[in-house]
Amino acid sequence: MNRQQKIAAAVAATSAAALIAACGGGGSSAEAPALVTQSAFELQMEASRLNLGADPSMQHWRSFYCNLSDDNNAIVIAQRARNSIRMPLTQILDDVWYIGTEYVGQYILKNSQGLVKIDAGNNADEMRNYNLPAMRTLGLGPGVPLNGVLVTHGHADHDGGAVELKTSTGAPIYLGSADAAGKAYAPTTLDSSVMTPFDISVGGRTITVLSTPGHTVGAFGFIVRAQDDGKEVKLFVSGGSSLVAENVPLIQSYLNSMERTYDLLKKMKVDTASNPHTYWDGSRNLIQQIQAEGRKKPSQFIIGNDRLLRAMAIGRTCTAAWLAKKDPTAVMPVWRVSSLDFMPASPSAAQLSARVTNGWGPVSSQTVSFTTAAGAALCTARTDKDGVATCQPASALKVGTDRVIARFDGASTVSTVDLGSESTALVEDPAVSGCRDLAAARSASGSRQGDALYSPRLDINADGVINLRDLEAITKALPAGTACKA
Ligand SMILES: [Zn+2]
Repeated sequence: MNRQQKIAAAVAATSAAALIAACGGGGSSAEAPALVTQSAFELQMEASRLNLGADPSMQHWRSFYCNLSDDNNAIVIAQRARNSIRMPLTQILDDVWYIGTEYVGQYILKNSQGLVKIDAGNNADEMRNYNLPAMRTLGLGPGVPLNGVLVTHGHADHDGGAVELKTSTGAPIYLGSADAAGKAYAPTTLDSSVMTPFDISVGGRTITVLSTPGHTVGAFGFIVRAQDDGKEVKLFVSGGSSLVAENVPLIQSYLNSMERTYDLLKKMKVDTASNPHTYWDGSRNLIQQIQAEGRKKPSQFIIGNDRLLRAMAIGRTCTAAWLAKKDPTAVMPVWRVSSLDFMPASPSAAQLSARVTNGWGPVSSQTVSFTTAAGAALCTARTDKDGVATCQPASALKVGTDRVIARFDGASTVSTVDLGSESTALVEDPAVSGCRDLAAARSASGSRQGDALYSPRLDINADGVINLRDLEAITKALPAGTACKA
């Protein structure tokens, strides 16, 4: 094999290790070059980039979750300087407000029984000068009590004002039992040793809580049912963000906590998340958008379950990179985020077709199941080399009425975890959807992934070239003689 052939073979195998071997191993004899393998750290860091997808907002999550492995926390230390810049009380959902600084903040929830607060600020002065006055503008007083304060973890920038809050309102302060030792505010403890989520009731609200040791041993995440534009939404607040630990067992706990959080956010279909350190997950930008342009319907704060799960998976990948750096013997599969999109001109009453891809390329030889929105099985198919699964529905589908869910449940090997994905679409007349897809293909041609014109239904590479198979699928699906409007 000459050098050119070796590189071609390596590209075909899409293995970074093979590529390095082919490119770097070209000594004079050129045969059997020493294999330069990617370290586990490099593999996880590469995965954190490949998991970004075409969503620019994910860069933000990656830059914070991966900063430890990149620059050992310098980015967090730099943000601490913004703790003197106040952010005013801002309504982010119908019944949830944020108040704080650009470094760290607190959430106030309101219902007919009164207020509930998440996190207790940096110190007593902050509570006196900002938080208590803000709660009074929301009605705090004899008829509107503060019914409880949920503290994400026992660091002073989250519970520094807890004594003041308890003294002035009498509200119970909830904290993970593993962080509770020596706290002057005598917290009501949440059992940190319970690794499964459980519900608590505070002020007439059901809040799902999850022990997430790692940042501290007593850290907790909270899933709050809130209202947005009159509909129920779920908001996840976790304070245990940056990985302060150099100690391997704690990093391992942090990784496990992220995996359990991912599972819970998926299972409960949580709509959005916010960290009290709002710079961490981009929610500071969302709050500033709401301040500048008003709250939209739905709120700018709702990022959706798909993006939230992708963000959490990126966080998990970055954490795995950090653990690999600290403990090169740790064995961690690479998490790969998949996307599932219906193919052009699908779903129709005659054919169901969807494509599964991830940052590494098409996801082939996996099962995609198609069901009605009500859960009735329609058909299943394996993905081909392009990641496309196609089958005919077992029962009649009504055009314009029925919705179809396509789902890939995920798959694991020793070295990889392919995360599942799903998509829902209305059954359409191929003459309508085909013409629309054709118009989208024409306008998207020459655009790049990530451009506004890019349609997820179409496979367009970074140079704006559309996968021919997509164009064929459109033309094949269009009923004979259909004349699409130009
Ligand atoms: Zn902390």
